[in-house]
Amino acid sequence: MYCNVNTEKCSDRDHYMYKFLYGNSPPCCRSHLYTLLKNTGEILSGANIKYWIIAGSLLGAVRDNDIVKTDFDVDMGVFEEDFDGVLNLADKFIERGFGFERQIGISFLKIVVTRSEKNKNWLDIFPYRNYGNGMCFPVAGTHKKYEERLGFDEKDIINLDEARIRDCYFPIPKNAYIYMKNMYGPDWRTPLQFDTLNLEPPVYSDDTPHINGDSKDPEERRRWAKIFLKVRKHNFKKLH
Ligand SMILES: [Zn+2]
Repeated sequence: MYCNVNTEKCSDRDHYMYKFLYGNSPPCCRSHLYTLLKNTGEILSGANIKYWIIAGSLLGAVRDNDIVKTDFDVDMGVFEEDFDGVLNLADKFIERGFGFERQIGISFLKIVVTRSEKNKNWLDIFPYRNYGNGMCFPVAGTHKKYEERLGFDEKDIINLDEARIRDCYFPIPKNAYIYMKNMYGPDWRTPLQFDTLNLEPPVYSDDTPHINGDSKDPEERRRWAKIFLKVRKHNFKKLH
């Protein structure tokens, strides 16, 4: 049941089911996220492109020294003026078997690196610009709140710190603790607890069921909906 570079990733729906049922993403997917971070870091550093990890990946580094168990992507920032430099490294990513794509939407511009063409576990690279009162990546409209959450003082980016995730150290903004408090609240040091519903602890094996909300079996669909709604009600506000 685990995903690998030759399979599709555990689907988003399954991610959510793992998240809501067990409080985390499948371990296979988290391993792919780590591989993405490590290789992207190597490629960018090798090209002397400065980067720093952000959002949930930053939380994982400063709190858990790991990928946060509930996370299903990894994120980093680069200076806007280096963004084309990252685009020029596409071949380096492809040589290592990763997927590489520039994505542009109404409210965002980013590079998406995927674990493989088939396995779409992904890493986002956002271009950061100094807007005068802090650094952020260009976002608009409904993402405004997001923008506020993911901004940094330029001085904390100019001189980066570093923090460990698994076996590697990664660049992080200085004063990361302050940003974590702003992003995730005063209790950010306490990992989310999903045990209030007395769910069975996760046991991952080839037989781990993926409950499918689109199953043809109405009983399975009902079970999915019931768990989903119940756990969401309890945990939604706390999810990051
Ligand atoms: Zn997986």
